[in-house]
Amino acid sequence: MAVLIDGKAISSQIKDELKAYVAEKGLSDKLCLAVVLVGSDPASQVYVNNKKKACEYVGIGSKSFELPETTGEEELLSLIDRLNGDDSITGILVQLPLPLQIREDVVIRRIAPEKDVDGFHPMNVGRLSIGEKGFVSCTPAGVIELLKRSRIPVEGKECVVIGRSNIVGKPMAMLLLRENGTVTVAHSRTKDLREVCKRADIVVVAIGKPKFINREYIKEGATVIDVGIHRMENGKLCGDVDFADVESVAGAITPVPGGVGPMTIAMLMSNCVYS
Ligand code: NAP
Repeated sequence: MAVLIDGKAISSQIKDELKAYVAEKGLSDKLCLAVVLVGSDPASQVYVNNKKKACEYVGIGSKSFELPETTGEEELLSLIDRLNGDDSITGILVQLPLPLQIREDVVIRRIAPEKDVDGFHPMNVGRLSIGEKGFVSCTPAGVIELLKRSRIPVEGKECVVIGRSNIVGKPMAMLLLRENGTVTVAHSRTKDLREVCKRADIVVVAIGKPKFINREYIKEGATVIDVGIHRMENGKLCGDVDFADVESVAGAITPVPGGVGPMTIAMLMSNCVYS
């Protein structure tokens, strides 16, 4: 039976450490996250509220900017310009996805890289790839933190990342490489995914398909990190990994919910505090 990697407990620990750091350094009045939400997508509203609550918990400020679904790109860009120039705002987060009339890449590029706490700006992506300090995308940063705090070494290990999105798969691969893993990135065109996956000591799954990975993909004793998150018809959440099937072969595994999900917000807070 696999060891359960408890993302909920680890994320609480990180938030407590950040709270203590903010108090000790007197940063409370110096840090403020601007959270921008366009439209009224219920899932996005939940995410935004959770981010604001996390700021409150850690002891830093947050300001909300809620714009209607019909907002034009120029209007959003001028808000970002204002926030970039406002010294009281130290981090800017634009909740994705954006309505179709607004180009996400244009918006991401407009955020000042030194306030880009999501780590999506090409400048920060570039810094990560050449090993310079900068903001790192929160979900993959959270995966690294989960591995470190669970004392699962990456150095010299075969790591397979399934998925190559800009916000999860690609930065995940760069981070595992930075930790001296031997990294393979698999995607929808990968031939014989099962064989590729089966050689991994550490598998990070970010495919976006519910319960796609079963025990046939997993080497005995491997660490399985499930980034996926889906709501099933019965209202419960599941990941990209068939947890019940895989937990009997894996050495360690993250659950959904309570695995990678809570780490994303903890790492966002870490980016806001150490900005
Ligand atoms: P995405 O942009 O849809 O990317 C999915 C990736 O999976 C693509 O690279 C795709 O390959 C690959 N893929 C799709 N089908 C595949 C298959 N049959 N075999 C191998 N690879 C396949 O998704 P994402 O944004 O990275 O998110 C992935 C999952 O993580 C989603 O469930 C999302 O909800 C979840 N997520 C969770 C958090 C969190 O905080 N826990 C944060 C972000 C995302 P191609 O490139 O070839 O199309």
